[in-house]
Amino acid sequence: MEEIQLLREKLHRANREYYILDKPTLSDDEYDAAMRRLVELESENPELITPDSPTQKVGAPLEGDFQEVAHRVPMLSLQDVRGVEELLEWEKRWRRHVHAPEGLQVNYVCEPKIDGLAMSLHYENGTFTRGLTRGDGQRGEDITANLRTIRSVPPRLQLEPPPPFFEARGEVFMLRSQFEKLNAGLIAQEKPAFANPRNASAGSVRQKNPAITATRPLTFSAYALGEYQGLKIETQWELLDILEKAGFRVDPLRRKCANIEEVRAFIEWFREERHNLDYATDGVVVKLDDFALQRELGDVGRNPRWACAFKFPPAEVVTRVENIDVNIGRTGVLTPMAFFEPVEVAGTTVSRATLSNADQLAKKDVRIGDKVLIRKAGEIIPEVVRTLTELRDGSEREFIFPTHCPSCKTEIVADGPRRRCPNDECPARLERLIEHFVGRDKMNIDRVSIELGKRFIAAGLVHDVADLFTITKEQLLNLERMAEKSAQNILNSLENAKKPTLARLLFALGIDNVGQKTAELIAEHFRSLENLKNAEESEISGIYQVGKVAGKSVWEWFQHPRNVQTLEKLLAAGVVPQEATAKSSDARFAGKSFVFTGALEMDRREAENLVKNLGARVSGSVSKKTDYVVAGENAGSKLDKARENKVPILSEAEFLALLEDEPKAEGADVHPKK
Ligand code: NAD
Repeated sequence: MEEIQLLREKLHRANREYYILDKPTLSDDEYDAAMRRLVELESENPELITPDSPTQKVGAPLEGDFQEVAHRVPMLSLQDVRGVEELLEWEKRWRRHVHAPEGLQVNYVCEPKIDGLAMSLHYENGTFTRGLTRGDGQRGEDITANLRTIRSVPPRLQLEPPPPFFEARGEVFMLRSQFEKLNAGLIAQEKPAFANPRNASAGSVRQKNPAITATRPLTFSAYALGEYQGLKIETQWELLDILEKAGFRVDPLRRKCANIEEVRAFIEWFREERHNLDYATDGVVVKLDDFALQRELGDVGRNPRWACAFKFPPAEVVTRVENIDVNIGRTGVLTPMAFFEPVEVAGTTVSRATLSNADQLAKKDVRIGDKVLIRKAGEIIPEVVRTLTELRDGSEREFIFPTHCPSCKTEIVADGPRRRCPNDECPARLERLIEHFVGRDKMNIDRVSIELGKRFIAAGLVHDVADLFTITKEQLLNLERMAEKSAQNILNSLENAKKPTLARLLFALGIDNVGQKTAELIAEHFRSLENLKNAEESEISGIYQVGKVAGKSVWEWFQHPRNVQTLEKLLAAGVVPQEATAKSSDARFAGKSFVFTGALEMDRREAENLVKNLGARVSGSVSKKTDYVVAGENAGSKLDKARENKVPILSEAEFLALLEDEPKAEGADVHPKK
């Protein structure tokens, strides 16, 4: 009971902040987690359910500014489903409810779940007369004057003859591009910016002054009907067509599905596709197509039984900064990092993000205790988008950038916008370097973990990466908790790493500005370490796609006596980079461009390396110039683009077959595979 009470209070507070004040302080994930827990507790103890529990109500009690109007048909919410299992359960549940035999075929309609605010628009004899927010589901706020300013709210329906009464329902939202413009403008005027497009839409559509709403780029997209007269509509699919004919925007990505498998496929496709859209979506709404079946199923609590919302984890979430600290990189650069309360962003749990450098830290003004909006940049590395300074309560603490290296106490030097520990022997730098060096795509020394690297440094066994290869079994056995078998495995793992390709070694050395691609380009050009060591800076920089910055870094690295010594030690310990052989050994691959998409059974990187080693290029996007698209499971927009451009599409099996195949001896340019 106590937990139920606490959860209800938390959710009531959150609802008010979200629906009335447009200032959420919980992230949607936190909110959803609390809601799920409450649903769980209430279903275990149904006698404790009260009509005012947040599980039974929509939105929040209305407050003040606008006239309240009762909805003719209540505006409900949607039941969440997360994951395929829950989707299948939902289907079982509705079938059970109407005693539908398993074999009964039904159609579903899938629609993108646009992340905005639900509205009800009344049309009398074809003319827009009233617009209401969803409010608490029973009563909405009359914001007619504001809705009139939105271009995609048609003042008249294009239906002949106009129905006597027609209530269109849909979502008001803001395009991301316009949201960014709006925020840039607000920031330029030193006004508080909005946290996300939904927040901006909420703040704009519920303005007291319609003239302000008129300046906000809002869009309305229709997806349902409330009450209507004079029309006969039998399915959701038909309804969406009618809404479109009537002059509304209806989402073009809707799809009719003949069974739940097709629904699943649409969801998987949309999971990727939605990132290409200019509007925020947080899921897919799945509805039973047949209105008669919808009526038979009816509602339960605040949700209809005949629809559900398959939700995706959010790509932008709010969380609290618990700490700020600096991370010392392998080249000595100090990167400020924010550590926050762990949250799920686009499918993974993140608990820290880089703040890039001291300047960025100052610009974003992130303090310990701040609420921040974070997102995954390029879907991989989380970044702090913005500090929600408006949510500060004065307890936040500023982070003071250290003047001395936290690891070796050497004085920090400035290097452009970056700060750097100049000590080549700094233990923190060496730890990072070893972590990098042993990585799978570098030297691939899997038995040397980060922890073990630290122990080697602490025991004085390793002063540079070359020392790893001269560690003896005896030295290993002297370490605490080191069994004979583990020691042998470590030595084997080191032994096996002694013949890296030149590219891998170059990448592993941790030279500033040299990533995998640059290392490959340089290795391909010079083919041997000897050639590279003797090269002029201009030759390195001149390699196509390497450029001046990386070229300079590489050249400087080889001038540094300490690095030269490390290389000599590596060679002396038997680490011999394999000289790169000429590529294009296989005419079917040489110069061809491959795109990989979807989930492959094999390691994606391995697949990419295989074709690269055969002289092909790997690209991230499909164009007319792409030669092959290799599509795994759940491939999305890239696959569509391939079809559009008539690019040959290979399944993983076909791709493997292509690799296995001996090249066909058709023309003089076809060389036998090595
Ligand atoms: P919901 O957003 O999960 O689903 C219902 C809504 O989906 C509808 O009202 C409608 O606005 C929208 N929708 C979009 N496309 C639709 C379509 N094609 N067909 C039908 N509906 C469509 O439910 P909700 O009750 O509006 O809100 C609950 C969610 O709001 C929570 O899961 C949470 O993410 C968020 N929330 C967050 C906080 C917070 O403090 N962060 C507080 C309250 C609510």
